[in-house]
Amino acid sequence: MITKVECIVIECNVCNDIYEDGNGFSVFPDNNSAHPEDNGWHVDEDVHYCPGCHEIDEDDNLIVKPSAAPATDTGEQ
Ligand SMILES: [Zn+2]
Repeated sequence: MITKVECIVIECNVCNDIYEDGNGFSVFPDNNSAHPEDNGWHVDEDVHYCPGCHEIDEDDNLIVKPSAAPATDTGEQ
């Protein structure tokens, strides 16, 4: 039989990139099963920044890079 379950994905708050762990998984049963901070993400409660959208300066300050303009979506053909 098939049972639907709820799961989560982790999205960058800036660029909406989906976190993927080292094994290529991007869907997790819950927040405690995903460890994006191990892969260079900044995690602060419900805020997630991918490695491309933030950096830590020499004083340990979080610097969030401005979000890049989204690519123009021409839609499906
Ligand atoms: Zn990002």
